[in-house]
Amino acid sequence: MTGGGYAAEPASDSYDVVIVGGAIMGSATAWFLARNPDFDGSVLVVERDPGYGSSSTAHTNSCMRQQFSTELNIHISQFAADFVKNLRSYMGDDRVPELHIRNYGYMYLADNAGFADILCANQAVQRAAGAQTELLAPEEIAARYPFYNLEDIVLGSINLKDEGYWDGGTVFDWLRRSARDHGVEYIDGEVVAMAQAGGRITSVTLASGAVVTCGTLVNASGPRAARTARASAADGVYTGEFTTMAMCGFIRAMGEGDGCLDRLWTKCYEESKGSI
Ligand SMILES: Cc1cc2nc3c(=O)[nH]c(=O)nc-3n(C[C@H](O)[C@H](O)[C@H](O)COP(=O)(O)OP(=O)(O)OC[C@H]3O[C@@H](n4cnc5c(N)ncnc54)[C@H](O)[C@@H]3O)c2cc1C
Repeated sequence: MTGGGYAAEPASDSYDVVIVGGAIMGSATAWFLARNPDFDGSVLVVERDPGYGSSSTAHTNSCMRQQFSTELNIHISQFAADFVKNLRSYMGDDRVPELHIRNYGYMYLADNAGFADILCANQAVQRAAGAQTELLAPEEIAARYPFYNLEDIVLGSINLKDEGYWDGGTVFDWLRRSARDHGVEYIDGEVVAMAQAGGRITSVTLASGAVVTCGTLVNASGPRAARTARASAADGVYTGEFTTMAMCGFIRAMGEGDGCLDRLWTKCYEESKGSI
C-alpha cells in the first residue's frame, strides 16, 4: 500500500470505467456509479496525490448558492443542498454525521440600473425554481447589515435558504469511503498517456508503466484536466486550442458573479454559430 491506503498498481488490467483524479468530482462520479442499480461495471480511480494536498478540493471554501441565472443551475444546486443535508440517508450508513448548511447567504450588490435589472430578472428565475431570493433596497440592506458601505448601491439580492458554508471535507471523505466500500478501486498513480481508437479513449498508461484498458474514461483531474487530456495528444484528441473568454474584472462587472461566465460563454457560442 502507498499513500491514502491506496495500492500502487491496479488489481486488473481492464475496467469498464477509469476515472483520472480521485478528489471530490472523481469520487462523486465513482460513488454515483457504484450506487446506481443500473450499473454493474468495474471502476478504477487513479489518483496521483493520495494526500490531496494540492487538489482544489482540499482548498475549497465549501460554499454553495442558489442564485444562478438559469433554472438548470438552480436545480443542480438544490439537489446539492438536499444531498448535503441528507448525506446519511443518501449513503445509507449510520456512521455518516448529520450535516447542515450555514445559511449566511450571498449578497449581490448592484451599483447601476442595468445591473439591478439583471438581479431582478435573475430573482424571477430563482423564485420560479423554488429559491427564496429577496431583493433589498439600500435602506433594507443597511438595517440588516450595517457594516456595508452602500454609497453607490441601488439594489441588493440575497437568499438565506441553502446558501452558505457546508462541510465539503466530510462530504468528500464519505463519497470516497462509500465508493470504496461499494467496490470502487482507488490506486496511487498518475495517468501519463492515453490511447484512443475510433474517437474514444481505449486505455491509459500509468507512470509505473502499467497499461489499463477502459470502456469509458472520465477526466476528473481538476485544474490539470487540459494537461491530462494532452496525454492523448499523440493520438490527436487534444488539439491544444483554447478560447480566452474575458478578463475577470470585465465579466464580474457584467453583473452576477460566477454566473457571468455561463452567460459570456453562451453569448460567444451563439455569436460563433457553433464553431467553437
Ligand atoms: C481557494 C478555493 C476556494 C474554492 N471555494 C469554493 C466554494 O466556496 N464553493 C465551490 O463550490 N467551489 C469552490 N472552489 C472550487 C472547488 O474546490 C472545485 O471546483 C472542486 O474541488 C474541484 O474538484 P475536482 O475533483 O474537479 O478537482 P481537484 O480537487 O483539483 O482534484 C483533481 C485531482 O486529480 C488528480 N490528478 C490530476 N492529474 C492527474 C493524473 N494525470 N493522474 C492521476 N491523478 C491526477 C489531482 O491530484 C487531484 O487530486 C474553490 C476552489 C479553490 C481553489
